[in-house]
Amino acid sequence: MTMKKIPYCKVVCDGNELRYVRDVLESGWLTTAGRTLELERRFAEAVGARHACAVNSCTAALHLAAEALGIRPGSRVFVPTMTFTATAEVLRYLGADPVFLDVEYGTCLLTPETVEAAARCFPDVKAVMIVHFGGQAASMTGTGGLLEVCRRHGIRIIEDAAHAFPSRIDGRMVGALGDVTCFSFYANKTITTGEGGMLTTNDDTIAKRVKLMRLHGIDRDISSCFTADNPSWEYDIAGLGYKYNLSDINAAIGLAQLERAEEFRAGRQRCAEFYLRELAGLECIDLPLLRSAPQDHAWHIFPIVLKPQGPVTRNRCIEMLAERGIGASVHYKPLHRMTYYREAYCLSPDDYPNAERIWQGCLSLPMYSALSDDDLDYICCTLRHCLGA
Ligand SMILES: *Cc1c(COP(=O)(O)O)cnc(C)c1O
Repeated sequence: MTMKKIPYCKVVCDGNELRYVRDVLESGWLTTAGRTLELERRFAEAVGARHACAVNSCTAALHLAAEALGIRPGSRVFVPTMTFTATAEVLRYLGADPVFLDVEYGTCLLTPETVEAAARCFPDVKAVMIVHFGGQAASMTGTGGLLEVCRRHGIRIIEDAAHAFPSRIDGRMVGALGDVTCFSFYANKTITTGEGGMLTTNDDTIAKRVKLMRLHGIDRDISSCFTADNPSWEYDIAGLGYKYNLSDINAAIGLAQLERAEEFRAGRQRCAEFYLRELAGLECIDLPLLRSAPQDHAWHIFPIVLKPQGPVTRNRCIEMLAERGIGASVHYKPLHRMTYYREAYCLSPDDYPNAERIWQGCLSLPMYSALSDDDLDYICCTLRHCLGA
């Protein structure tokens, strides 16, 4: 087999990105204005939410979401341990404390059962961060779903949907399910603006607060504040806000990416189905567990878990793949293992058996629409070889 070079991820920007960015540059107005408002309008429409607020990262969206829900010093909020640090760090910005929960083996999701049990142990918890891991929506809907469990316990829901655009559950798009949902347009996410994020909500009060706080607490609409054709200079500061607005340059890239979101998603689904089919017989790995229909899944990452009794360790396997030109990644080293959280909250691996089992063996395979069947075949054959199968 001839060696191929297959990076872990690859950004595709060969649609209207350049044209839309050139239009912005030529317009003479580079920061938040018409393109950003249009991206908000289109994104709200795409997920079926009343409001979409563009910001410069998903981290900013998570921070604003928690602030708008009244998370403050001493508040406690459930967070899955299997996530990126941003999900938990924004709580610390507000002086609140994350309470880390274990995830389900196979999906890396928080389950309604876990949240129900935790809500009984921690009756004072104000909110939960639900991470739609890998692009698969958590069990939100129906009787006994997370929406119902949380409503019953008075727990607000912030969805970290950094992996989950476009993603669906029970025919409803992620972005219009809970109180507030946060998306990432970071370079390696399912659609990108370079750096950027979006917050969606059906709640008018949350949207109003977020729009105030994302731009210094200025009490005027973000576009009328900036546009040259509105000469009014007068504004008030209604709260201690942040500098989280998205620029029109980034929004222009986002508009072009949004046009192709379903095309990209379908391409990743093709990769996932190839892996599920070709790796199904491998004894020494566990494949991701599918709870949604494949077309409802955003397929942001494809994490497999090498079983402990297998022929190679995860680290060695990643090295061997790299030697053969294939990039792989790890999602995630759980937060309970990170020095900051471990020391601040005296966390022990023994309390997170599923996350530990995942962490010891997990690796994520390349997954993007530009991968050909030939590339996927090379990846599967190489992985089989590394695992001695
Ligand atoms: C990428 C990511 C974030 C942060 O997104 P940014 O846009 O880089 O701030 C948050 N949560 C999860 C789960 C992510 O994967």
